[in-house]
Amino acid sequence: MSYYAEPLAHLIDELSRLPGIGPKTAQRLAFHILKMPKDRVANLSESITKARDSIIYCSICGNFTDIDPCSICRASYRDRTTIMVVEDPRDVVALERTRDYKGLYHVLHGAISPLEGIGPDDIKIKELLSRVSDGVKEIILATNPDVEGEATAMYIARLLKPLGVKVTRIAHGIPVGGDLEYADEATLTSALEGRREM
Ligand code: ZN
Repeated sequence: MSYYAEPLAHLIDELSRLPGIGPKTAQRLAFHILKMPKDRVANLSESITKARDSIIYCSICGNFTDIDPCSICRASYRDRTTIMVVEDPRDVVALERTRDYKGLYHVLHGAISPLEGIGPDDIKIKELLSRVSDGVKEIILATNPDVEGEATAMYIARLLKPLGVKVTRIAHGIPVGGDLEYADEATLTSALEGRREM
């Protein structure tokens, strides 16, 4: 038996399906929504529906966009000779925030993970290969520095090498503000490998 009225139980159930939302948070959000003014609730539900309906994948880079191609692929000032490969559209947002990168992107929408049954054909590797033709000089592999991200970077690098394009991997190691003493061995090793001359 549910302690909640049926529509409320339904709302809590739907909210708890979202990532990072446990039953307690779902309950708190649902009760908060019940206390919100009706017009704000309408705005919330409309913005969810509208985002889901209007956001599509960019046909070039695979990033989320409402206009195809996306604003990054359309921008004339961007360096079209460099493509940065990332796992997730959120990575594009993070990299754009740095304002340091002016090239293009390619979003894989995942990483190769045999344990989860995700193979090379399940992410957008084919689409990346088809972009490596006229004018592309460098592909920067910016997949995550975990097992799946490294495996994906190595797999893609192997496919790209024969195509005569420069393939680089982003450095990873000690985080800014981090303490050498507390870094684990794998982090220290990759920090050493990624060292540069000063
Ligand atoms: Zn795009």
